[in-house]
Amino acid sequence: MPKTISKKKNNTIKLKFDTWQYAPAPESKSAASIKPQYDLFINGEWVKPSGNKYFDTINPATEEKLSEVAEANVADVDKAVSAARRSYEKVWKKMPAKERAKYIFRIARIVQEKARELAIIETLDGGKAIRESRDFDVPTAANHFFYYAGWADKLEYAFPNCATEPLGVAGQIIPWNFPLLMAAWKIAPALATGNTVVLKPAETTSLTALKLAEIIQEADLPPGVVNIITGAGSTGAAIVNHPDINKIAFTGSTDVGKIIQRAIAGTNKKATLELGGKAANIIFEDAPIDQAVEGVVNGIYFNQGHVCCAGSRLYVQESVAKEVIRKLKDRIESLIVGDPMDKNTDIGAINSRQQLETIHKYIKIGEAEGSEMYQSSCSLPAKGFWCRPTLFTNVAQSNRIAQEEIFGPVLAILTFRTDDEVIEKANNSPYGLSAGVWTDKGSKIFNMTKRMRAGVIWANTFNKFDPSSPFGGYKESGYGREGGLHGLLPYLNLNPLSP
Ligand code: ADP
Repeated sequence: MPKTISKKKNNTIKLKFDTWQYAPAPESKSAASIKPQYDLFINGEWVKPSGNKYFDTINPATEEKLSEVAEANVADVDKAVSAARRSYEKVWKKMPAKERAKYIFRIARIVQEKARELAIIETLDGGKAIRESRDFDVPTAANHFFYYAGWADKLEYAFPNCATEPLGVAGQIIPWNFPLLMAAWKIAPALATGNTVVLKPAETTSLTALKLAEIIQEADLPPGVVNIITGAGSTGAAIVNHPDINKIAFTGSTDVGKIIQRAIAGTNKKATLELGGKAANIIFEDAPIDQAVEGVVNGIYFNQGHVCCAGSRLYVQESVAKEVIRKLKDRIESLIVGDPMDKNTDIGAINSRQQLETIHKYIKIGEAEGSEMYQSSCSLPAKGFWCRPTLFTNVAQSNRIAQEEIFGPVLAILTFRTDDEVIEKANNSPYGLSAGVWTDKGSKIFNMTKRMRAGVIWANTFNKFDPSSPFGGYKESGYGREGGLHGLLPYLNLNPLSP
């Protein structure tokens, strides 16, 4: 067992570990091929952006340029939407569902075959630890394609007594925290239900979506069924505002979600919005404390806290608060922060300089609000964007760090005495995406999950995903569900069949 000596200095915990250091185990970059420049994937071909503009995509762990990516303007968006419309009308909506399924299965299998390369590119472009992209992002993306391929020819069983009809062309806009997985979440159900797609990845993490375009080409999908175009907010806005788009599927910030809602108000466009979160993770005194501490660490620190469903608000029952906080401090000290390509790394790089600045801003706000801050004493690489795992104690419910989404490895810890009190506090948030409950009692789990306003509530675990279970929010966390049978619905019109 590691022996720890703790002394507090300048608000930083200094723990000395008589523990073993892991030898570096870096994944090799050579297993991935990244082109120096990427064009737009429209109508099954790579086309130059009409404005001839490209922007750099960098490795946030080293600040080195990885490639340059095309910036799609309004004319390019129009080209992509027209291609998607043509292939919808002429090919995809007419194709027997079991044939559509074969293409989706093929994509799933190629994603599996190229899993190592995809994981490496995800980590290089996004900064997350290779362990996360290798063990979670890529396999879960493949699973989504497999899962929805299975539904394609079974929609009549999913929605009995209804005729199902696709919506048409779906515009899909995704964020940078799970670039490949979000693309799979969006594309797989859209294709399974007979829609065609124009997808835009986030500007800092375009590369795995572009690799997915190569996979789609290899799978021989009819041209125009999936179009992948790159660019920043203005490209996203051009998709949202295009008159021939039937549905918007968006994952990203609540602010942009609101802009999208305003933009589509009064149109026939349907939308699903998966927005921000400020998940409450609740530890009761009867919980298995060590497991709960590990679950909290998994919920906020792995993935650099870049998860909308991150358990960023921790509520601990007063009687065990001291023990939980001590164990959390010990545990964050042992987390390995650094080279995301190293297989031992727990916490990789922050996705961008801008995001790092936002996180630092909130750490300063937390201190100014009077909360006590602890950070691990790990050393950080000289280049790149890094944040030490951070926690705040003595946080009040009204503090900004307990109310606002930080999107970084920063945990706000609050305490409670009774069930009613913690439910009140947990629900007192503009968000409602996810939550967690740690307790030994099944009855308490049922009681809590019934009364809490969050789309997903994990019990005695955290951040577990499966393609068969729906995901989505309450309140400012958005609406509509992705995943599972529920995830088919936002891509369909249902017409009841007369008996
Ligand atoms: P985050 O804060 O997670 O970066 P954003 O909401 O800013 O989230 O970005 C999520 C996605 O939305 C990205 O692909 C981004 O380019 C896109 N985006 C940003 N602004 C707009 C907009 N006004 N309309 C449509 N898409 C947008």
